[in-house]
Amino acid sequence: MTKYVFVTGGVVSGLGKGITASSLALLLKSRGYKVFMQKFDPYINVDPGTMNPIQHGEVYVTYDGCETDLDLGHYERFIDEELNYTSNITSGKIYKSVIEKERHGDYLGATVQMVPHITNEIKNKVYEAGTTSKADFVITEIGGTVGDIESMSFIEALRQIQYEKGRENTFFVHTTLIPYIYGSGELKTKPTQNSVRDLRNMGIRPDALVCRTPFSTSDNLKNKLSLFCSVPKENVIDAVDVKNIYQIPINFYEQKIDEIILKQFNMPLNKANIKYWEDLVHTVDNLKNEVEIAIVGKYVELHDAYLSVAESLRHAGYKYKTKVNINWVDSETLEKSDIDLNEVFKNTKGILVPGGFGSRGIEGKINAIEYARVNNIPFLGICLGMQLSVIEFARHVCGITDATSTEFDPTTENPIIDLMADQKSIANMGGTLRLGNYDCKLKKDTLAFKDYKQENIKERHRHRYEFNNKYKELLEKNGMVFSGINEAADLVEIIELPKHKHFIASQFHPEFKSRPTKPHPLFDSFVKTSIEG
Ligand code: GLN
Repeated sequence: MTKYVFVTGGVVSGLGKGITASSLALLLKSRGYKVFMQKFDPYINVDPGTMNPIQHGEVYVTYDGCETDLDLGHYERFIDEELNYTSNITSGKIYKSVIEKERHGDYLGATVQMVPHITNEIKNKVYEAGTTSKADFVITEIGGTVGDIESMSFIEALRQIQYEKGRENTFFVHTTLIPYIYGSGELKTKPTQNSVRDLRNMGIRPDALVCRTPFSTSDNLKNKLSLFCSVPKENVIDAVDVKNIYQIPINFYEQKIDEIILKQFNMPLNKANIKYWEDLVHTVDNLKNEVEIAIVGKYVELHDAYLSVAESLRHAGYKYKTKVNINWVDSETLEKSDIDLNEVFKNTKGILVPGGFGSRGIEGKINAIEYARVNNIPFLGICLGMQLSVIEFARHVCGITDATSTEFDPTTENPIIDLMADQKSIANMGGTLRLGNYDCKLKKDTLAFKDYKQENIKERHRHRYEFNNKYKELLEKNGMVFSGINEAADLVEIIELPKHKHFIASQFHPEFKSRPTKPHPLFDSFVKTSIEG
């Protein structure tokens, strides 16, 4: 039977609950157990797909096409398991489904209420994650901070789960802050005591505390927390600030949190295999070289908007013992007439244009793509980045000077990028993109084939517009190779320029499948060529 581990947060947000949850999952997996992860986001949006990346960071996409919170990216990168639509549940999703059931008459005349209707829906989502994944452990992170109005119904649902399933099947980890007062040189436990009291007021007694702290806590302090919070002393775990986040699972392992969980569940303490992770920590702490790569985007003021892209570059760097320094370039600045691209890209060894929506900043991205193409600088384009590299090529190499996408100019004469027929009638913005895994067949003797070393691949998508096949022949004649195709719908998935040192772009998002110990093939070769210079 599946066991359930819940990770709540207290005192302040941003304590690293996501990394805590991922680290627990990693440790349980390393002992041979099957793990699955889930995040509850208390906001009313049905999913983050319609949110501005500047506010909320990137939207992470699962293989089955669910648009999710960026924490799911941390989960997948840490545990190297593919998550799915049961992995990200928002209040919006819960309310929507309850209201739809009410309209459908499913509640047979009952007054529909927070308890039991909303809480039942939440509990079902937890249990569904267990039954569909058949995992030994489902680890569920509750977004927000205990005490927030929005998260009340989630906490109440968890209380019911704790009661229904018992302590032998549920484990509650409360992540909290131990602040340091510089004047008196003391670590303080009061905020933690208060937040555990809030949790207990809602009927939940935590089984372990993960304490975010600048320094290891003393025995004395652990005793105090144990006494005031009714948590055994050895279940008070330090999460000391670290420079390298991959260190966290190792720090937890040393404090035996996985053993504590397994003991409460009466499960065997299989031998832990974390050598591969220790090696990763060692690699990241001992990078020998550096390389600068530019990300040219319009949301660069919030680096989280490109989290998976930046992580993927770093992963590839680890393979070559190289630290990737990112040159964050705001694409709009590249549109100014007095801009000197040689200056912007002075130390840059590779240029990446990531995904995006809308017309702001696109001409700047096109300028960056042209600069990479003309100066033979390694280039990787992703999604919008691919669409713009095709437009750039059509304009500057094939002579179609007004080439563009109907996303930017719906009445253009030269829609090099256009809507697919089945997208034309869609009015809703949420959840209607081409999402999740699609097949792609690679052409032999291309850079793409050399990178993947196989013919048939599957990659995750998130876009509405496509390359317009009407222009294929002309672009091919001028030297562009269409090296990846989705045969079922005859859609272009990858383009490249074989005359260039390294110029490749994909309609899909490779960044969602890169892992710190397994860089994605497209990032691997892009970073490698950039390092080689
Ligand atoms: N805006 C483009 C489209 O909808 C690209 C999307 C993206 O880059 N994710 O097709």
